[in-house]
Amino acid sequence: MELLWELQKIDLDLKNIEEERDRYPKEMNKLSEKQSLEKERIHKEREKLESLEKDRRQKEKNLVTEQDKIKRSEGRMSEVKTNKEYQALLSEIETFKQAVSRVEEEILLVMDEIDELKKDLSKREKEIVITVEKFETEKKKIEEKMAQDDVVWEEKLARKEILSKQVESKLFKLYNMLKEKRQGIGMVSVRNETCQGCFVNVPPQMFIEVQKNKSLIRCPNCNRILYWDGNGEKK
Ligand SMILES: [Zn+2]
Repeated sequence: MELLWELQKIDLDLKNIEEERDRYPKEMNKLSEKQSLEKERIHKEREKLESLEKDRRQKEKNLVTEQDKIKRSEGRMSEVKTNKEYQALLSEIETFKQAVSRVEEEILLVMDEIDELKKDLSKREKEIVITVEKFETEKKKIEEKMAQDDVVWEEKLARKEILSKQVESKLFKLYNMLKEKRQGIGMVSVRNETCQGCFVNVPPQMFIEVQKNKSLIRCPNCNRILYWDGNGEKK
């Protein structure tokens, strides 16, 4: 019974490692996906920033053009002969001045947008450095755990080989059959007169027998082989 109990514990450990081997690569993929999404976002923001800067430079050129127009018109002031011409020139200059102030406003707006984006971008860039660091640490941890799992796996498997031969073959077959049917658990402990596999009470007389760990006793409800492992404490 003790040997079979040890075997059951090993089988659970092996199952646990199997689940970890399945889960770890998925966890890593998730982390790396999150990281590339964030990098993509930063890339897009940088592109937007570039296009805003381009826009700003274009507007500044426009501003210079409009200012030149004003200067040229003002230069023509001395050549004006009639009042009508003078009025026309004044109104032309006024139009150019309006254009200048419009372009100036536009430039201010673009500059505001650029400032906002730069702030956001520098925050994101700081964050991504931390995210990448975290990812590398996590990745290392997972890789170490997987390597450790491999070692434990080999050890447990070797011990399982030995136990499989030592346990009475009829009992071993029964155990394997139950394990197959009952989510990897063929043998369970009993605590407080309750089967720890299905959590149904076992009859008091049976409980007394189980505590001896001498004979094959199975749970009347889930059929698993019962084992006395102390009441959660060491025997
Ligand atoms: Zn049970």
